[in-house]
Amino acid sequence: MSKDYNYDHYKSVPDPASNVNFKKKKPKLIAVVDEDNCTGCQVCVPFCPVDCIEPVPKEKYDIPIPPVQVRHDECIGCQICAKACTALTWDAIRMIKTEEFEEIYDTEVSG
Ligand code: SF4
Ligand code: SF4
Repeated sequence: MSKDYNYDHYKSVPDPASNVNFKKKKPKLIAVVDEDNCTGCQVCVPFCPVDCIEPVPKEKYDIPIPPVQVRHDECIGCQICAKACTALTWDAIRMIKTEEFEEIYDTEVSG
């Protein structure tokens, strides 16, 4: 008996990146992972077009599956990771305005 699965909920998710690109200008938004909500599943990782999402280093949390983090200076603010996380897993990525990000983290994002 064949099952008629409905995959409509995947339509809001773009395809994973087919090749890695690089930042060309300062983005308007930066992705920030909410580490308390992130399961470390890494579903978001292959979606990032600039490959700037990575597991948090083992030194920070000594747990089997650490959350991920974004290398913020490489993020182009495309929001794809946030959409993928929300649609497929846990809604653990927030997009923050670059000016706010710089203020909160007392840093300057390069352009
Ligand atoms: S998809 Fe979401 S929950 Fe999974 S690793 Fe990425 S940010 Fe964390
Ligand atoms: S918004 Fe997410 S997917 Fe896009 S560049 Fe930044 S970390 Fe990568």
